[in-house]
Amino acid sequence: MPDYFPEDIKRYIIPEAKGELYYQCLGCSAQYPIDKLLYVCPACQEVLLIHDRKKDSLKNIPGPVWQKIFDFRKMLKIPALKGIYRYHEFIGSCIPLDSIIYLGEGHTPVVEANQQLKEKIGLSFFYKNDGQNPSASFKDRGMASALSSIKYLIDQKLISNVIAICASTGDTSASAALYASYFGPLIKSAVLLPHKKVTSQQLSQPLGSGAKVFEIPGVFDDCMKIVEHLSSRYPVILLNSKNAWRILGQESYSYEIAQDFDWKMKDKAIVVPIGNAGNISAVMNGFIKFFEAGIIDALPKIIGVQSEHADPVYRYYLEPDETRRKFVPVNTKPSVAQAAMIGNPVSMPRVIQISKKYNEIAGSRHIFFVQVTEQAIMDWQLQANHNGHIACTQGGECLAGLAKAFELKIVSSHEIAILDATAHAIKFSGFQDLYFNNAIPEDYKISSNPDFINLPSLVLPEDKDLIPSQEKRLNEKDFQGFVKDISDKIAKKLKLEICE
Ligand SMILES: *Cc1c(COP(=O)(O)O)cnc(C)c1O
Ligand SMILES: [Zn+2]
Repeated sequence: MPDYFPEDIKRYIIPEAKGELYYQCLGCSAQYPIDKLLYVCPACQEVLLIHDRKKDSLKNIPGPVWQKIFDFRKMLKIPALKGIYRYHEFIGSCIPLDSIIYLGEGHTPVVEANQQLKEKIGLSFFYKNDGQNPSASFKDRGMASALSSIKYLIDQKLISNVIAICASTGDTSASAALYASYFGPLIKSAVLLPHKKVTSQQLSQPLGSGAKVFEIPGVFDDCMKIVEHLSSRYPVILLNSKNAWRILGQESYSYEIAQDFDWKMKDKAIVVPIGNAGNISAVMNGFIKFFEAGIIDALPKIIGVQSEHADPVYRYYLEPDETRRKFVPVNTKPSVAQAAMIGNPVSMPRVIQISKKYNEIAGSRHIFFVQVTEQAIMDWQLQANHNGHIACTQGGECLAGLAKAFELKIVSSHEIAILDATAHAIKFSGFQDLYFNNAIPEDYKISSNPDFINLPSLVLPEDKDLIPSQEKRLNEKDFQGFVKDISDKIAKKLKLEICE
C-alpha cells in the first residue's frame, strides 16, 4: 500500500506520465515527435533512438532515493508497475499507466553458477534467465514497450486499425504475436519467418497466438528487407528492433541487473549474444542512463559475443583504429545460435555510437567483442544445462564467450559475470537432439563430444509378449513379472544394490 511507504519517497512511488519523449536520428541528429510512427529518419534513412526532454530533471532526485523508490515499488500490486515499467521514468515516461500492457515480462531470475561450473570457467558468474519471460525470450521486454506505445497512440486517437508486422529469427515473432493478440481485434499481427530457419517450437508460437505467419525463402536478412519495403509503402507498424521503442523496453534488462546486485556495478561484466544488435545497444544504453542519473556509480564491462558463422560486429571492431573501421555485412553460415544468425545487423549504427559514448564515460575501454566457434557454443550450452541452468544455444554462446574473454584476459578471476540466457532451452532443443544423435549437418562444423551425449534407453522385458498397452492390459501375475523384470534391469544399469 503506497500509504505505508516512507515519507521521502511516497510522492514518487506512483509515477506520473510527465516525460517528453522524442525520436532522434543517429545520422543527422534531427528530432521528431513520437505521436507519429517512425522507424528511420525521413531525411537520411538512419535508425532512431528515443530520448526524454525532461531527462535532466531526473537528476533532481538523488541516486540513493531512486534506489529506494525502485526497491519499494517492488512491493506494489499494480500490474502496470510489476514488469519493465517499475522503471517508468527511464522506460516510457510519457505513457500513462492505463496504456501499459503487462503479460508477466521482466524481473527474470538471476541464478549463480555452481562451484564446478565456476571452476571450469575461472570466475564467478550468474545466468539471468530471460527465457522465463512469457514468450520464453528477452524479446518480451521490448515488445511490452512497443505495444504499450501503440496502445498509447490508440488511446490518444492518433492511430486505429493497426496491423503490426515483423521479420524474425523466431523469437521476435513469438513475442509480437503474443502481445498483439492480447489486444484482440484492436491490433492484428503478421510475421515473416525465413523458411526452415526457425525451430518448430518458435513456429508454433505465433500460430498459436493467431497471427498471420508467412514463411519466406532465404535467411533473416532477406525477410527484413521485405518487412522494410512493406513498412515504407503500407500503413503497417514495424515491431522489429528498428522500432526504437523496442530498444527502450530492453533497457530494463540493465536496470534489473543493477537492482539485483544492490546497485554495485564495479567489477561486473555483462555478457550478451549479438544478432541484430538491438539488445546490446539497449543494455549499454540502460547502464549509461542509470549512471548519468547517479543510480549506479560504476559502469560494468560489456562483452558482446558472436559466432564465427555470423560475426559482422566482431569483425568491425577487429580494426583498432576507430577512424579506419568500416562496416561490411557478412554472408552468414549455418549456426546453432540461430536467433543471432544475422549478417547485416539493423542496429549497427546504434552499437557504434553508444559503445563509443560508453567507453568515454567509463574512462577506459569497457565494451568488448569476442568470437566463438559453433563447437564451443554447443559444448558450453550442454555443460551449463548439466549444471542446473536452462540456457538456449545463445545462452551457450554467452558462456563460450565468457570462457574466451577469460582466456583473452578481458575479464579476470576477481570479477563477476552476468550472462544473458536470452531464450529458454526448450525452444532450441532440436539442436540438442541433433548433437546427441551425432547428426548435426556438416556445415555447422560441430562434432558431438561423447562425454556430453545423453540418450534415452528403452527397457524391454525378456518376454516380448508380456508388454502392457492401453489396448491389452496384462493379468495381475504377468504384470508383477513385468514390473520385477524391468526394475531389475534398471537397477543393474544404475548399479544399485538391494537394501537389507
Ligand atoms: C533476438 C535474439 C538474440 C539476438 O538479439 P539482437 O537484439 O538481435 O542482437 C539472441 N538470442 C535470442 C534467443 C534472441 O531471440
Ligand atoms: Zn537523419
